[in-house]
Amino acid sequence: MAAVNFAIIGYGGMGSYHEKNLMFSEKEKINLVGVYDILEERQEVARAKGLSTYESFEEVLADERIEAVLIAVPNDLHKSMSIAALKAGKHVVCEKPATLNTEEFDEILAVAADTGNRFIVHQNRRWDPDFLIVRDLYQSQPIGSVFQIESRVNGANGIPGDWRHLKKHGGGMLLDWGIHLLDQMLWLVDSPIKDVQVDFSYVLGDEVDDGFISFITFENGIKAIVEVGTTNYVKLPRWYVKATEGTARIDDWDLSGEMVRAVQTSNEIMPQPIQAGVGLTKTMAPPSEDATETLSLPKASAEYDSFYSNVYHVIRDDATPIVKNTEVRNVLQLIEQMFEQEE
Ligand code: NAD
Repeated sequence: MAAVNFAIIGYGGMGSYHEKNLMFSEKEKINLVGVYDILEERQEVARAKGLSTYESFEEVLADERIEAVLIAVPNDLHKSMSIAALKAGKHVVCEKPATLNTEEFDEILAVAADTGNRFIVHQNRRWDPDFLIVRDLYQSQPIGSVFQIESRVNGANGIPGDWRHLKKHGGGMLLDWGIHLLDQMLWLVDSPIKDVQVDFSYVLGDEVDDGFISFITFENGIKAIVEVGTTNYVKLPRWYVKATEGTARIDDWDLSGEMVRAVQTSNEIMPQPIQAGVGLTKTMAPPSEDATETLSLPKASAEYDSFYSNVYHVIRDDATPIVKNTEVRNVLQLIEQMFEQEE
């Protein structure tokens, strides 16, 4: 079957990233016909790369060759542009956050249902190798049953760009990075949420959050800490996972880290007391070498289709989307709940 003809709307940081992926990774399935950006300078960058550009969004929508658009504009524009594209008979792949709240999201889904066109959200971090390792730990249980997961991203560069600093554009780090980490966590644990507590940070003095720390309890008993920081000059690990027989740590996207499993209980092999500050401790001493073994982290592998290939199969063969709209909505609902705690 023929590749799906796409146009990219918004040729900024992410629009150009999509262009590279669409053009080089799934060429047989996705065909990039052209791009449109409201800024002439971005149109020029696109043309300099040999891409066709459109003069307006309306011109894209009127082009009968275009079957689908990829929306990569600031967050507050996702709803109106997605709805316009769906009504014009196009399928839509939309950047995260799909919308600023569940009400807007439901409006898009209603139009998608009316028109019969597909709406798919780019929650790409379900394919991140570090996440895939945690998913493997969770499912295959090499260190036992996971009961606590800490997921963090720490930066020291503040909030990037212009529109991300403003509420009216859907700025702030919960909607920017938080949505990725929450999407991963909810997809992984796959249990309703019993409780969430959040604390936002405003270290930089912007009107939007520059980070947050949240504590989530799932109904299946699993507890999660999800944290985003943009003023962290010293990083904490990307992941810290506690399970019934061991602990795993993944430091960063380079996948460095370790996984340590208990082979004997501490009652059988007592650790040696150590000097701790001005005191002595056995409780906090490292376990004796006989009591634990250090294992390599599992290899990361996605046992599911790539994002763009799945998009192709959803459009051409009515396949099930890997990123389901019910899941996207659950994450948006959680985000709403978190923002409500701020008020
Ligand atoms: P950006 O500011 O770099 O790019 C946005 C582009 O949209 C700009 O070039 C701007 O001129 C253009 N634009 C603005 N209004 C427009 C309009 N009405 N019509 C056409 N073009 C318009 O921002 P970005 O970092 O590329 O973010 C864009 C979207 O991608 C956001 O929703 C963001 O959350 C998302 N994003 C996703 C990821 C990811 O990993 N999935 C990463 C980065 C950004």
